[in-house]
Amino acid sequence: MNKAKKYDVLIVGGGVSGTALFYMLAQYTNLSKIALLEKYNKVAQVNSKGKNNSQTLHVGDIETNYSPEKTKAVRSAAMMIPSYVRRLHPDAQNKILFRVPKMVLAVGKDEIAKLGERYEEIRKLYPDLQKLNKKEIGRIEPNITKGRKENEELLALYTPDGYAVDYEMLAVSFTKEVKKKADGRADLFLGQKVKNIKRGDKEYQIETNKGIFEASIVVVNADSYSLLFAKSLGYGKKFSLIPVAGNFYFSDEVLNGKVYTMQDQKLPFAAVHGDPDVQVPGKTRWGPTAKFFPVLESGKPLTSLDYFKSAGLFRYCTIKSFIKILSDFTRFKYLLKNALYDFPLIGKIFFMPNIRKIVPLLKARDIKKAKGFGGMRLQRVDTETHELQLGEGRIVGDNIIFNMTPSPGASACLFNAVRDTEEIMSFFDNRYKFDKHMMENECVGGYPCDTTKDVSADFYSS
Ligand SMILES: Cc1cc2nc3c(=O)[nH]c(=O)nc-3n(C[C@H](O)[C@H](O)[C@H](O)COP(=O)(O)OP(=O)(O)OC[C@H]3O[C@@H](n4cnc5c(N)ncnc54)[C@H](O)[C@@H]3O)c2cc1C
Repeated sequence: MNKAKKYDVLIVGGGVSGTALFYMLAQYTNLSKIALLEKYNKVAQVNSKGKNNSQTLHVGDIETNYSPEKTKAVRSAAMMIPSYVRRLHPDAQNKILFRVPKMVLAVGKDEIAKLGERYEEIRKLYPDLQKLNKKEIGRIEPNITKGRKENEELLALYTPDGYAVDYEMLAVSFTKEVKKKADGRADLFLGQKVKNIKRGDKEYQIETNKGIFEASIVVVNADSYSLLFAKSLGYGKKFSLIPVAGNFYFSDEVLNGKVYTMQDQKLPFAAVHGDPDVQVPGKTRWGPTAKFFPVLESGKPLTSLDYFKSAGLFRYCTIKSFIKILSDFTRFKYLLKNALYDFPLIGKIFFMPNIRKIVPLLKARDIKKAKGFGGMRLQRVDTETHELQLGEGRIVGDNIIFNMTPSPGASACLFNAVRDTEEIMSFFDNRYKFDKHMMENECVGGYPCDTTKDVSADFYSS
């Protein structure tokens, strides 16, 4: 058997979260050996893949379910991505970051009142955010007002300078930067599926399909798979997962920018939106839907075995939690409705009211299922409190971190990488150095990056 390869820090999972951490450690710390293991032959082939998410840089201006505190925190976390990208060669920049106008639309009196209040709460944070009436909306997005009932009132918050991000290309660029600047100190292993992680006396032993690795510290950035690894080491036993598959439809291009609808606090995966797709010009992508589907990876039915292993579905406390969460009528009705959207032929008829809320004249025959597009948003359930825990989750163990990163994990990837780098430095009792000052100059425009602010839990939008 080959000798184990030894590392100070080993990252499992090469999505946008794992590669951002790989970059952060290689670029701004003096760790001598870092490794990233990814099971596929390319990075970012699961939820960070361009086709599998909505490509939005969530900065909090159109996410009506974020509290004002979260809005502020997520704004500075997400804006690290444009700061990072602007330092790259222009050819690379053009493949990652796209200027796209963004709007959140309120339809009817209730939504308008809520959006008006929201505007007052956040307007100081976003000086460029504009409040638009129906006529102004029609000038910017004519298809929103065309064919709409005369008496249907509208209000929108609009920013001409929003961003879309190809998170797959962002992940690729993190690995390229590591190769340029830290080759020899930081190794990327593709096609290495981690089979198990064991705690030894001093180090972790990581077994893959191709060999054995040893590392003082491990960070599992495998999104929905992270809980499975955590449980295998005795962590996170109280958590289960509700698997929500997000799929999309395409129409011809009917919008000039991203148009979101108002989010409902109780329905974390709701709020269909229309977006230009950065990889498919000339189309508008609609979605995501939110279907209960027991797999860990979209389009990979065999991953349902892993889902059942990590969800612990047959425990009494899990069943009780699922019943409690799904017995909320609004949630239950919503999930049932979403199940209909994926029916062949008739699914799109059921989905149309969501689209017509934005573009009233669009017909079912104008949209097509976006085949091969879509990802999984695994939502954690605390089986002790029987509560649904929205947003990202993180379990910190003994020299090991497990990250679970549904939206807006991609938007906050660099911020999360800073937070994990600080944790890693403390695991090492600060024997190594993290040049946070340099990182702040290069990725935060010289402002302090306060990782005590929680940009993760308790909110959702994609
Ligand atoms: C429908 C949808 C829409 C979304 N829209 C947005 C959006 O607009 N904006 C936004 O910010 N976020 C959005 N998100 C969320 C975003 O996609 C995720 O937060 C982000 O991609 C998570 O990145 P990650 O690196 O943690 O996970 P992933 O990208 O899933 O990467 C995990 C990696 O771990 C690897 N892995 C797993 N198991 C192993 C193993 N055993 N060995 C080795 N490697 C392994 C996988 O192959 C994968 O590469 C959306 C998600 C969905 C599903």
